[in-house]
Amino acid sequence: MSSSASIRRLSPQVVGKIAAGEVVERPASVVKELVENSLDAGARRIDVAVGRGGLDLIRVSDDGHGIDAADLPLAFERYATSKLSTEGDLERVATLGFRGEALPSIAAVAEVEMASRSPDAAAGAFVRLEEGAVINSGGEGMPAGTSVVVRRLFGRQPARLKFLRSPSAEAAQIATVVSHYALAYPEVRFSLTVDGRPTLHTPGSGRVADAAAGVYGQRVAESLLSISPEEAADAATNTDGLSVAGLLGAPPLSRANRSYVSLFVNRRWIRNRPLTFAVEEAYRGLLTAGRFPIAVIDIRLPPGDVDVNVHPAKTEVRLRSEREVFGVIQRRVRGVLSRHSPVPDLSASAWTGSGVGTVAGMVVEAKVQPALLPPSGALSASPPAPVEGMAAARQLPVLRALGQVGTTYVVAEGPEGLYLVDQHAAHERILFERFLSHRDAAAEERQALLEPVPVELTPRQQALVQEIAEALEEQGFSLEPFGERAYLVRAVPAALGEKDVAQAVLRFLDLLEREDAVSDRRQRVAISLACHTAIRAGQPLNPEEMRELLRQLEETQMPRTCPHGRPTMIHLSADALAREFRRR
Ligand code: ADP
Ligand code: MG
Repeated sequence: MSSSASIRRLSPQVVGKIAAGEVVERPASVVKELVENSLDAGARRIDVAVGRGGLDLIRVSDDGHGIDAADLPLAFERYATSKLSTEGDLERVATLGFRGEALPSIAAVAEVEMASRSPDAAAGAFVRLEEGAVINSGGEGMPAGTSVVVRRLFGRQPARLKFLRSPSAEAAQIATVVSHYALAYPEVRFSLTVDGRPTLHTPGSGRVADAAAGVYGQRVAESLLSISPEEAADAATNTDGLSVAGLLGAPPLSRANRSYVSLFVNRRWIRNRPLTFAVEEAYRGLLTAGRFPIAVIDIRLPPGDVDVNVHPAKTEVRLRSEREVFGVIQRRVRGVLSRHSPVPDLSASAWTGSGVGTVAGMVVEAKVQPALLPPSGALSASPPAPVEGMAAARQLPVLRALGQVGTTYVVAEGPEGLYLVDQHAAHERILFERFLSHRDAAAEERQALLEPVPVELTPRQQALVQEIAEALEEQGFSLEPFGERAYLVRAVPAALGEKDVAQAVLRFLDLLEREDAVSDRRQRVAISLACHTAIRAGQPLNPEEMRELLRQLEETQMPRTCPHGRPTMIHLSADALAREFRRR
């Protein structure tokens, strides 16, 4: 650990370049600033305790390099920092803090006490401030490190208090801040105590998977897939020094809102809509509508390619090459997911639990088999992963169709035991990928009508048809406006194949309307068309058809889920069978 660097006042020129604004909006912003200071001080252990949502008490202590006793009061002066000195430094900030604003801003709205000792100092020292002014200081016996106690936050700013939410809501925000730093810094041991109750703890082992277990719980952590740092594949982009690593929730693991996508740029937790969207897009077709992924994305760039000085709370950054970063994230996330899309595993306990003896009566829940993490889950130390877009056929074992159950599921045998394949979901997957690969529907996939057929659309359908006209065209639809709300259908995709064209088109539009969670137009059309066209449950299949279905499924990129993200198959492993029959 380097010893403490001296704190200096920034020159007026540098101060003038700093993005000004409110640093301390709520208790969580205090925690964020204090934790960032501890990380900048090279701490390996950071303990956070809060009382009543942080309004009564916030205490952050660390074992970092501390502050020299003589510098303690200077730390509370505005624009005094040990982290940069020249304007040039502002172009390549490598620390989380750099403005010398946080401590004075906190001291202006709370009572603060800071005690610190650098490892080479014989003793520590403390300062106590009220309303921004030092009211007491002295020596303090303490281990090396720094401890900051903030009391009565906004005690003299009743107007500010009114804008805060309930203490438990504020405590939840604090937990979010600590969680994110714990994920970004797995080598640091974090703990959070809320109103005396330990609420979060990470071991500081250096493995992100361990930090994720502390933050999200063991069960979630076990089903996280690792994105290891890229190799040659991404060297092709012209962003030198860009790396993307992290952890991804396997698709069955999803959340009802998008706050579980955590982005870090050079280990700074940031918000960025486009990059969050890049992650969500990569999950398209793997999660059901309204569900969002869990992801921890660790982006590293040369400091000169990132401008961190654009937002007062430093939660937004400007990237010089956001487009490339977007592309790399999307490809890498997609690559990991397509290699790992899991087969739900029908465990022996679920099997027994349902009390069913025959496959036909099966109503048991599919339990998802946790995907295995590679031995090292560390963001930076995982083995290189194979390049995405690997031979798709290998993602599914070769399956042999045995028969059909309830005219809905195909029973199949594979090297790993028994599989039940949902015929509709499987066919949807096959057709979805086929439709999506059409650029312009070839003549044989497009059915021109001898007589144009009129259809009448609702205003909503009309708006939709206009909005995605191009994607419809690509799939072989030709719809021509014809008066108020009417359209003339001149051609349809051959796959639509029904005698009553008007009815088929309306039914298709119905499905299309419902797929409103799919933002990509081509995907939306392809999903709806696949759903419209796929064989239904209840349709008898002969052995040849079943074989063909499995063969085509094997050739898809993501054979294990339908385009809506539901499983296409469940699995009863050979092991589970042996256990059930007490063969072992
Ligand atoms: P900044 O982090 O932008 O420099 P702050 O107001 O947050 O500004 O902190 C001012 C200075 O106080 C820092 O530059 C650093 O030298 C010192 N400091 C604050 N917290 C700690 C800590 N936990 N450990 C060591 N030094 C600290
Ligand atoms: Mg700071």
